[in-house]
Amino acid sequence: MIDESNDSAFKSWCESAQGGGFPIQNLPLGIFSVGERRRRAGVAIGDFVLDLAGISDVLDEDWRADLSQPVLNGWLARGPDAQRALRERLQELLSDEKYRDEVEPQLVGQSEVRFHLPCFVGDYSDFYVGIHHATNVGKQFRPDNPLLPNYKYVPIGYHGRASSVRASGEPVIRPNGQRKAADADAPEYGPSRRLDYELELGIWIGHGNDLGCSIPIGEAADHIAGYCLLNDWSARDIQAWEYQPLGPFLAKNFLTSVSPWVVTPQALSPFRKAMPSRPSGDPQPLPYLSDAEDQKTGALAILLEVTLTTDKMRQAGLAPHILSRGSADAAMYWSAAQIVAHHSSNGCNLQPGDLIGTGTLSTDSAGGLGSLLEISHGGKQPVQLASGEARSFLEDGDEITLKAWCERDGVVRIGFGECVGRVVSSS
Ligand code: MN
Repeated sequence: MIDESNDSAFKSWCESAQGGGFPIQNLPLGIFSVGERRRRAGVAIGDFVLDLAGISDVLDEDWRADLSQPVLNGWLARGPDAQRALRERLQELLSDEKYRDEVEPQLVGQSEVRFHLPCFVGDYSDFYVGIHHATNVGKQFRPDNPLLPNYKYVPIGYHGRASSVRASGEPVIRPNGQRKAADADAPEYGPSRRLDYELELGIWIGHGNDLGCSIPIGEAADHIAGYCLLNDWSARDIQAWEYQPLGPFLAKNFLTSVSPWVVTPQALSPFRKAMPSRPSGDPQPLPYLSDAEDQKTGALAILLEVTLTTDKMRQAGLAPHILSRGSADAAMYWSAAQIVAHHSSNGCNLQPGDLIGTGTLSTDSAGGLGSLLEISHGGKQPVQLASGEARSFLEDGDEITLKAWCERDGVVRIGFGECVGRVVSSS
């Protein structure tokens, strides 16, 4: 699984590539702009973004049209062979001193650029594969029977809204909506009082499938162009009132934030693990969701962290409060390949640049919960902060940062970057 492109001995001439989240073994793609200049494709190396249009003379001529677009859809549609070829060429350019004079002037400081969505998102779907999250939330409504009977057969999901998917940094405008207090006869319309985040991974689709033709589970991994962090901002009061019988709607579609980098399956390959074994008594996946290779390698050992700062904490110079830390591999009952295979199993066509959320990823311990709904037990146990403040849900000025990275002995650490959002009042 681990080829020489992941070899820890392999180094870039770019010094900041050593030791951070963006070594030569990572090379995630993104879309950035500098000042008023147009959006362009770049790759992260160390503290920099390498402008791919700027080095087009030393890249394959056939790639030029797709890599010079303001979105990556066309490039990602080419599939894993093209991704591997670009990775190999970039590794050559960034390690061999003979290319340094040509490539180095095309590095731009990451702190000097603005990041945009890596793709035009035609469709966004969100799943619910975090079994500990599903259990924790289910318990708040059905203490004795938290998981509904379909959970262990069907990767549960719903169609989200693509128009409000935004890159990290987009302000989180507190949504207005209908919320009904438990003891009230009728709902009122107003700003959400139970605004929450959801820690998720995002899956970027590479090449798609034709309408009516499903993606076999054994091929599903090849349709995944990469991964990002995803925050499925959620208004719990609006959600509780509106979700039956058709599921999430206005409680979710006011904003979804993603981290800017598309972290490739090639970079993640050293961090693949076997899917957690199913507890005895659980059904085996149906054949269209079963693949021996996926069971052996379908889990991702991605470490996830969520932090919170408030206005008061930032003014006092206090460190961010760590809300959770955990690993994605222990959280996911269904693999990314199973999600993709299931999504297309009825003939639904996935398209390049489609975005799929995994669902909230909580571990089975109190320190690894991926939403405030779980951490505060539905608002009953507020989080105490060093500023003296307490939070059951998010207040105006609160900022949530999702981070992810992969590390293990003998392998170079790779990072995902951040997905940040600060809540502002609705006007
Ligand atoms: Mn979600």
